[in-house]
Amino acid sequence: MERFYYVDKHAGYNDNHVVHAKGCPFLPQDSARRFLGTFYAPAAAIQQARKFYPGALGCEHCCPVAVKKNLSLHNSVALKHMA
Ligand SMILES: [Zn+2]
Repeated sequence: MERFYYVDKHAGYNDNHVVHAKGCPFLPQDSARRFLGTFYAPAAAIQQARKFYPGALGCEHCCPVAVKKNLSLHNSVALKHMA
């Protein structure tokens, strides 16, 4: 499903700008966010955000795909289940 995505205008620690989907409880207020567009996948929204802020990252709550550590963890778990 298509969702609206926004990026926080204010950098967090490590100079990261966090990308949020509409409806996320951590979404910044109107004045503190930039509208990115509508996307089917959080990864596409993050890519768009990186045109404005190279350090853009997905929010762990609403855009969990960007957290590579967790992804590799899930992958290794899946592999164990298949073995
Ligand atoms: Zn979020």
